[in-house]
Amino acid sequence: MLVYHLPGTFETREAHLDLLWEAGATGLEERAGLIRAYFDARTDLDAEIADGEWRDEAEQDWQAQFKATLKPVRAGRVTIVPPWLRDEVEAGQTALIIEPGMAFGTGHHATTRMAVEALSALDLTGRRVLDVGTGSGVLAIAAALLGADHATGLDIDPLTIPIAIENAEINGVPPGRVAFAEGSLGLGDESDETFDVLVANLYAELHDLLAGEYAAALRPGSPLILTGILTGKLDLVRAALDREGFGGVTVREDGEWVLVTATS
Ligand code: SAM
Repeated sequence: MLVYHLPGTFETREAHLDLLWEAGATGLEERAGLIRAYFDARTDLDAEIADGEWRDEAEQDWQAQFKATLKPVRAGRVTIVPPWLRDEVEAGQTALIIEPGMAFGTGHHATTRMAVEALSALDLTGRRVLDVGTGSGVLAIAAALLGADHATGLDIDPLTIPIAIENAEINGVPPGRVAFAEGSLGLGDESDETFDVLVANLYAELHDLLAGEYAAALRPGSPLILTGILTGKLDLVRAALDREGFGGVTVREDGEWVLVTATS
């Protein structure tokens, strides 16, 4: 990438800006007291501007650099990987492939990792799982891969739904075992379907608001997994669970994040 460096700003070098465009600049940028003019080929600018300098800069492939930073994330029996790292999943681990994109839930956040670990600690065989705030679909897909009979992922953000569906396809989870829909609990339009496991990576205030809906959506004696909770907000969630009759509360912390499990 060919860049012509000119000391100054657009304001102080106003007289030279037209000259740069006329010489064939494909773009101008002002950064840290320097004007950077992008060119496809060198021109005879030196004759007209005394203090400029041509530089051949290496192309920065930001996407490639970002991809290189991603590592497999081990969460209990599951290892979450982007598609290009699927061969790095160790034998015996369940590979969960998530294409990093617009939706939250690549596995790299402590809350996602703890939630997958908590699912992985359960025997999900034959269970029906509800994932509230599904994002990339990671938790619903994990549940299906871990043997759940069916997993439903809900999200209020409609943009997440096609992303979650695509991630389920990448993982080979048939549509009959997983379903994603725009929606939530507590909106008044949900069915009276009940579930054997409910997982939700949201935030403490929302867990407080939805705790009654969680109780209604779960069959008695079923596990509830909540995360997205900052340590300082744990008491709010504890009080909500207590209020709605949940028992057997356990708490796990990872840095500033907390995961809570309870039984309906
Ligand atoms: N489940 C994924 C994970 O664990 O990585 C994504 C969790 S992300 C922190 C929270 C998701 O919840 C977002 O996709 C957001 O759109 C969704 N969300 C926020 N409020 C919600 C609500 N009231 N009901 C359902 N989904 C909600």
